Amino acid sequence: MEGLAIIDASTRVLCLIGKPVRHSLSPVMHNAAIRALNLNFVYVAFEVEPQDLGKAVEGIRSLGIGGANVTMPHKIEVVKYLDEVSEDARKIGAVNTIVNEGGTLKGYNTDGVGALKSLEMFTDVDGKKVVLLGAGGAARAIAYTLSGRVSELAILNRTEEKAVNLARNLANNGSTVRGMRLSVRNLENELRDADILINATSVGMESNESLVPEHLLRPGLVVFDIVYRPLHTKLLRDAMKAGCTTIDGLWMLVLQGAESFKLWTGHYPDIRIMRNAALKALGVEENEGKG
Ligand code: NAP
Repeated sequence: MEGLAIIDASTRVLCLIGKPVRHSLSPVMHNAAIRALNLNFVYVAFEVEPQDLGKAVEGIRSLGIGGANVTMPHKIEVVKYLDEVSEDARKIGAVNTIVNEGGTLKGYNTDGVGALKSLEMFTDVDGKKVVLLGAGGAARAIAYTLSGRVSELAILNRTEEKAVNLARNLANNGSTVRGMRLSVRNLENELRDADILINATSVGMESNESLVPEHLLRPGLVVFDIVYRPLHTKLLRDAMKAGCTTIDGLWMLVLQGAESFKLWTGHYPDIRIMRNAALKALGVEENEGKG
């Protein structure tokens, strides 16, 4: 691997487990951060079949792998193989980071804080009204992290029941949280007085689709799409045209990764170095990736 520090008998291994992982940006991103800090770590990706997840987690323990990221489809299932799970991860119901502390495996979820920090790079969230599209794993982490901070959270999902259940689980924590079906009428009603729109569905990934009609986008609205392939999704391109502030999903990938990195190594990495490494791997020029 180009530019890696010398790997020796003391090198600590960090890894990603998921399927598929071959196109993941995490290895380039984390290895760039490792190099910049001159740490004796290396980050690799392992493709793990669902039926092998338990054995893979035991492998982390028995090989003394320092930590791992967990991605689709294992984020929920992995919980049952861990020794401890943080309160955030337990409430979200999913783990994206494992830390191996001397053979004790602890699970964390850094997706929500990664999303929150992405938003905070561009806007204040306190007291704002947020419209969140989706009620899957990523949306759950974001909803959990934002509730209590924002004044109002409207969760719109294709499967209405999931949005309603998620909203119910977040009740009584300081924000008004409502779940409803994702429809143009509900979007119209909710976006009218919204400050922030977040797409946490997979719509727009490797496609030219958007769930939000262009005429609902207006200056003053902050639009955050957590999808980052392509970097500028149709939703973000429409939002730029409409004069919205836009935030791409690579910020969340980098910032959730930075939180994981801190948990594994004790160092908060240089997020510019991580983002630039990821942009390069995506084949995007830096000035195209401003957000
Ligand atoms: P997930 O748990 O499978 O949830 C998928 C969500 O998308 C569900 O709410 C689903 O609605 C909705 N959806 C899928 N197809 C749809 C369609 N045609 N129309 C309307 N809604 C649709 O996935 P996830 O883990 O939450 O990930 C969601 C996306 O976020 C993925 O693209 C993933 O790559 C991205 N992501 C990015 C980051 C980052 O760091 N930037 C981190 C995590 C995830 P139903 O409930 O109705 O099925």
